[in-house]
Amino acid sequence: MPRTYVTTPILRRLFQRVERTATGCLEWRGSTNGRYGKILIRKIGRTSVLDYVHRVAFKLYFREIPAGMQVLHRCDNPICVARAHLFAGTQLENLEDAERKKRLERDPRTGKMRRGPALSPA
Ligand SMILES: [Zn+2]
Repeated sequence: MPRTYVTTPILRRLFQRVERTATGCLEWRGSTNGRYGKILIRKIGRTSVLDYVHRVAFKLYFREIPAGMQVLHRCDNPICVARAHLFAGTQLENLEDAERKKRLERDPRTGKMRRGPALSPA
């Protein structure tokens, strides 16, 4: 029989570990993978899974992430979970967004766009 957990609701676990910044971001203060905040999701009778806090926050605000879409940041702050700063977009929009914000650079060897050295892929 699977073990059942009684845990603090995800909403509270998420928002008790964020801090409002001067720029209006709600920054996650828990663990990260070096770029994005992550949080362990426990569901009764199911295996716990790690999810990204901006994805969890988006689902709390808007119920679900549209199929095939990614959760992107208007503020370009990967650990931000502010409602007004999150939006759903495609992988292409993500790349175009990154290019606009100069997060990408052209690889001199291959000529292809890649993330800048300061921001390695998650
Ligand atoms: Zn933000």
